[in-house]
Amino acid sequence: MSLSIDLSSAPARGALRPAPAEEKPHLVGLGREALGDALRAVGVPDRQVRMRVQQIWHWLYVRGVADASLMRNVSKDLREIIATRFDISRPEIVEEQISVDGTRKWLLRFPARGAGRPVEVETVYIPEEGRGTLCVSSQVGCTLTCTFCHTGTQRMVRNLTAGEIVGQVLVARERLGDFPALDTPDGAIVPSEGRLVSNVVMMGMGEPLYNYDNVKEALAIVSDGDGLALSKRRITLSTSGVVPMIRPTGEEMGVGLAISLHAVRDELREILVPINRKYPLKELMEACRTYPGLSNARRITFEYVMLKGVNDSLEEARELVRLLKGIPAKINLIPFNPWPGSDYECSDWDQIERFAAVVNEAGYASPIRTPRGRDIFAACGQLKSESERMKKTERLAAG
Ligand code: SF4
Repeated sequence: MSLSIDLSSAPARGALRPAPAEEKPHLVGLGREALGDALRAVGVPDRQVRMRVQQIWHWLYVRGVADASLMRNVSKDLREIIATRFDISRPEIVEEQISVDGTRKWLLRFPARGAGRPVEVETVYIPEEGRGTLCVSSQVGCTLTCTFCHTGTQRMVRNLTAGEIVGQVLVARERLGDFPALDTPDGAIVPSEGRLVSNVVMMGMGEPLYNYDNVKEALAIVSDGDGLALSKRRITLSTSGVVPMIRPTGEEMGVGLAISLHAVRDELREILVPINRKYPLKELMEACRTYPGLSNARRITFEYVMLKGVNDSLEEARELVRLLKGIPAKINLIPFNPWPGSDYECSDWDQIERFAAVVNEAGYASPIRTPRGRDIFAACGQLKSESERMKKTERLAAG
């Protein structure tokens, strides 16, 4: 059972209001320097820029406001300028689904860019004991076609901007009451102490390393100590294996790395994760071995989805151990969550446990990820597809 709330026609409340129709520059997602330039461009005197940037940064990221009139220590004139010349609105929440296990999934709509159409992406919140993880999308659809992944069946529309990536974090924190002036909704399942959104994983829709600059800019804002202030140790970027961008990720972003591995032989990985044809396992493993900042305290996470009769033999478990030799690693075994039309089945639970035992005995942590939010289309990309299907049905009904 799950609770699903359609918020597309919710009453106006700063954060839920759709973004304005005309394209005004969005302030969320600009680094401090770009924010300063934007203020200068609307006439803020040079001598004030630093202070104003500091104030606006605080209101956007510490207080979480989405309405300029609430920025109390900013002069009235500047508040008006922000309200009329810039956009600080949140993405529109089209739908919010809440699972019985507390997992929340939002379908978010971003305005059209240029001649394009408005786009929708998913963001998922997974509460656990002691942490709350937000799974953030980087692209609308995906150019890659991993055969086990539902998003891989969707057309790539465009990259998300840095502001749209940060916007997902702001929406989640607001809906969970994780900003100072807000309360957590009654009955919400959240960690019993600490921050409600304590971890961010770039593991939603899209390949983050194909949208490198925007992801880098967004994560710099998410980890800025005077704003959202999430430690880089609590941010993980997951890639299907865009080898040339792995080292820059470590050097320039300094976040944790996860690899969508899923197979230990090139022939199979080329089917499951087709980017393997371009960057085969040998090159991928070499890039992991030399990932900047890698240590036993900072391991790479290898994601391995368990597909019955495809990649779940004990021989493959032993090969996995051989492949990872010398890499400080943790292996996440993910029971496959079938989606309508998928070709695969989830491995039997006993087999997953036997597989995990082989990996464990070799000294690697290999938690089996508990399936979460199965009652709310938890496979990445499903909510978006469902929404598109409904729109199509509505169109057909109307036409
Ligand atoms: S697993 Fe990631 S990279 Fe592969 S198709 Fe899905 S979203 Fe794209």
